[in-house]
Amino acid sequence: MPALRYRSKRYKQRRVRTTGGRTVTHYKKKRVSTASCASCGRPLGGVPWMRASKLRSFPRSSRMPNRPFGGYLCPACARQAIKEEARA
Ligand SMILES: [Zn+2]
Repeated sequence: MPALRYRSKRYKQRRVRTTGGRTVTHYKKKRVSTASCASCGRPLGGVPWMRASKLRSFPRSSRMPNRPFGGYLCPACARQAIKEEARA
């Protein structure tokens, strides 16, 4: 039975054949998906790829772009949203 921490879904299992011929399970942290635009789904620039819990330890200025809708919408969608806000 694996250690308690490896029984959670946050680890990816990989079966590896060792040089001795045994098959062992290696546990690897899952890859983090890139932050994407909430409107069109395009990957966002200026937002580092890491777990949200780790990102919290960074200063706000390096977590997301410092502009309206920064870290939420891509520049094209943000421009559109600002225009629609002004027209309404
Ligand atoms: Zn977008």
